[in-house]
Amino acid sequence: MAAVRGLPSTARVLLICHVNPDGDALGSMLGFGLGLRKLGLSRISATFPGRFEVPLPLAGMPGEELLVPADGVETEADLVVCFDAASESRLGDLLDRVTRPVTLVLDHHASNTGFGDIRLVDPAAAATSVVAERLLALLEVPLDARIAECLYIALTTDTGSFRFDVTTPLVHELAARLLATGLRPGDISRRVFDTRPYAAIRLHADVLSRIRLEPTAAGGLGLAWTYATLADLERHGQRPYVLEPLIDPVRCTAEADVACLLKQVAEEEWAVSLRSKGAVDVSAVAVALGGGGHRLAAGFTGYGSVDEVLAAVRAELPRGSGGGAARG
Ligand code: AMP
Ligand code: MN
Ligand code: MN
Repeated sequence: MAAVRGLPSTARVLLICHVNPDGDALGSMLGFGLGLRKLGLSRISATFPGRFEVPLPLAGMPGEELLVPADGVETEADLVVCFDAASESRLGDLLDRVTRPVTLVLDHHASNTGFGDIRLVDPAAAATSVVAERLLALLEVPLDARIAECLYIALTTDTGSFRFDVTTPLVHELAARLLATGLRPGDISRRVFDTRPYAAIRLHADVLSRIRLEPTAAGGLGLAWTYATLADLERHGQRPYVLEPLIDPVRCTAEADVACLLKQVAEEEWAVSLRSKGAVDVSAVAVALGGGGHRLAAGFTGYGSVDEVLAAVRAELPRGSGGGAARG
């Protein structure tokens, strides 16, 4: 990997990941950054667009010290490495603001638009961290517990703690090598997935109490949906990231193949999460509505009222056997 190997130790390396970073975005970025440090590179910074806020469950991740607010990064870089972003739109204006000879893209979204100079995009990879670890191995960077913790958090985030079908033998083989550095998976899972303030649990209860089932939607495959408003967040004194786990109870609905969660961002703007149990390709739905993602987990930004955004989703769902957005 000449773009990295050929760099002098004083080279400025900028690592970037998608807006509202999740465990895979931050974990693959910081884990890779710690790996680059082991190669002797000393001028590494990492950032992401939008509000400079690391969700509390992801705070304290090794390599956190590499993070700088987006408006504080050097606009000159010798290498820019981009993590877990399916398109440039997920990077805000970061790429525009930085002069760089080479942009290296590490990603695993099937909907990746193909931006960047060197693209390591593997839609078969369970997480971007799988791609990042592969590159670190090529660069002969040995895993240590700090790198491994970042990559493990990324891997568990995107595999639903090894529950989703992306969990191949290769995923478990990587997990084994990460754990062998001395990680305590129970401690990590408790911190990252199973800890939240009491007020957040009460907020979740409010949002889940509004869940609706539309058994005839998606040509009879069923749609379960709910929404969370800015007023909900304010009432419980919570930050938007506490809403992220809420798509999981929604997608548990047995009578619906498709789950949808609308998270209000502004008066008429919603971050929409879509999940499928397998019959509907929600990535196709999200792409049709300006977003992206994977077959079983995708998202987009919706505009208008809750009803209007839901109407747009319903219109992109398959209508009957064989019709509409790719049946599987
Ligand atoms: P989420 O529902 O936010 O957990 O996202 C599920 C998947 O959809 C992830 O792989 C995201 O990268 C992708 N995704 C979510 N929102 C967007 C968006 N606005 N544009 C493109 N991809 C998105
Ligand atoms: Mn992500
Ligand atoms: Mn990912």
